[in-house]
Amino acid sequence: MAEEKLPNWLKNRAHLSPDRPAIEFEGHTYSFLELYTLSEKMAGRLSSIGLGAGDSCAVLLRNHIDGVVVIHALFHLGVKIVMLNNKLTAKELSWQIGDSKTAYLVSEGSFSGKLAEIGEILPDLKLHLMEELPDEGTAGILQEFYLEDTATIMYTSGTTGNPKGVIQTFGNHWWSAVGSVLNLGLHEEDSWYCAVPIFHISGLSILMKNVIYGMKVVLAERFDEREANRSIQENGVTIISVVTAMLNRMVQDMKGTSYPKTFRCFLLGGGPAPVHLLEVCKEKGIPVYQTYGMTETSSQIVTLAPEYSMTKIGSAGKPLFPSQLRIEKDGTMCEPGEVGEIVVSGPNVTKGYFNRMDATQQAITDGWLYTGDLGYLDEEGFLYVLDRRSDLIISGGENVYPAEIENVLSTHPDVFEAGVTGTEDEKWGQVPLAFVVLHQGAELGESELLEYCREYLASYKIPRNVIFCKELPRNGASKLLRRELKKEMGEWQ
Ligand code: ATP
Ligand code: MG
Repeated sequence: MAEEKLPNWLKNRAHLSPDRPAIEFEGHTYSFLELYTLSEKMAGRLSSIGLGAGDSCAVLLRNHIDGVVVIHALFHLGVKIVMLNNKLTAKELSWQIGDSKTAYLVSEGSFSGKLAEIGEILPDLKLHLMEELPDEGTAGILQEFYLEDTATIMYTSGTTGNPKGVIQTFGNHWWSAVGSVLNLGLHEEDSWYCAVPIFHISGLSILMKNVIYGMKVVLAERFDEREANRSIQENGVTIISVVTAMLNRMVQDMKGTSYPKTFRCFLLGGGPAPVHLLEVCKEKGIPVYQTYGMTETSSQIVTLAPEYSMTKIGSAGKPLFPSQLRIEKDGTMCEPGEVGEIVVSGPNVTKGYFNRMDATQQAITDGWLYTGDLGYLDEEGFLYVLDRRSDLIISGGENVYPAEIENVLSTHPDVFEAGVTGTEDEKWGQVPLAFVVLHQGAELGESELLEYCREYLASYKIPRNVIFCKELPRNGASKLLRRELKKEMGEWQ
């Protein structure tokens, strides 16, 4: 069978709907034709530094129209893109660039400090600022994308260990976009707000939908709750992708106002969703669809369908149409309600980690990806995600999920955020320890907070201690690093 291919996405989109709005950025709207023209020119400039089909190139970009242009330009040239997280340190970035074996880095002047350090660590790296690329140069633009070809290599957040370079093919991105739209549908007036980073799959997947659907995207350089709310209330945004902290801030900022009927939903993903926040949204009539996904699934793979958003609160939903899901424990399928590892498959699932045969073989068997996350299905097949297997605390033989305790702690009005991890205990094997950041000015004591926990949690889930601290350790994707909690305990006590 001939290899499957599709016409070059942005080029095709510019051909089919040249005048439709593609990206709105800082008040200016670029049509698909304009976006294509910019990316074609950029492809020429990038080819003049030697980039061409089969190469790979790392990019360190902001959420900016120029970043979007560079991404499409590299696709036009047939260059695999290593998407770097711009919040990482120069050391972390250099490690990823080295690991991905790429010879090129394209970035921009605003990262000059980091770039200088990277240049010192990797003296052979061909480092270019996009604003200083030569102005001449024309390039042959790929007319077709082969679905089997690697489009991007994206490192996982590194929440549980060293980041791994996930290979994402054009087919993975295509099927992710298709799976999402088969669930959410596409409305003519749809406009998707992207304040999540475009170097992360949450943001990049919006850029893929942008050209595949021909749908407008409003791109924000950084997240600001007032600006995001204004875009929904006054600027016609219909869908917005958020993580819990963003949703929380937007809901607090609403102060009695509401969203127009044209607003379709918050797509909430990236980590555990506190049930109390979902309930607040339900009371206020704010549509929130929980999603579950990861870098390895090229964005969401499980999403709560619109009609269940209010009745199946707390569930991440069912797999998107092209994907499948099962729960396994010790090699056998779990019964409904029984907790096991979440295992997924589908055309959006990665074929593996770059240059990491061991990790690939460990994670993928017969096309099924073992996610390392624990969860269960209810009788109707709805998924409930509990926590990462590696964060599970086993106390006196009982399973304790840190996310459940964090959820309860964070419902206390004085608590700003909470992190829970296990610590050794002679009697119980392990017991939970809580790390809590209070709201400014709050004066809450340990015993009072533990008393509060007793109202909501069984005794074996009650943290042995509460350690109050100024902030919690987070990685470049703002995810809580539970394994670092105890490490820093000394400094906080
Ligand atoms: P690493 O794999 O390097 O440790 P990471 O898993 O945090 O990093 P991502 O791919 O960005 O990197 O995150 C995906 C993970 O986020 C999932 O495997 C899961 O643990 C968590 N997650 C995503 N959606 C949800 C959800 N709805 N509920 C609970 N956890 C979620
Ligand atoms: Mg992971």
